[in-house]
Amino acid sequence: MKKLVEDVYKINSREAGKVIPKHESEGFIELGIEGIGIQTIKIISTNAQFGGYLRWFSCPHCNTMVGTLYLPYSQTAFLCRHCYDLGYRQQFNRFFRKT
Ligand SMILES: [Zn+2]
Repeated sequence: MKKLVEDVYKINSREAGKVIPKHESEGFIELGIEGIGIQTIKIISTNAQFGGYLRWFSCPHCNTMVGTLYLPYSQTAFLCRHCYDLGYRQQFNRFFRKT
């Protein structure tokens, strides 16, 4: 059965990107993973629509720009949802969300 994004440890690029100085468009963060070690992850900035900037992770495996990286149980590195083939519990919720 497919693992779900709700069931794995995850980190958000908006939070992680705050440690990089505002004027720098690229940077790296180091994540300490208990029992495993340090993983270095690249952060990329893009301009936000209404000013400011957005921070993204560059997935360490496929280099795709993503907002969230995941660490499933028994794995040793943060990677994107596609690299771990993670699914959403109720994917249709995205299309039928109340406004
Ligand atoms: Zn990836």
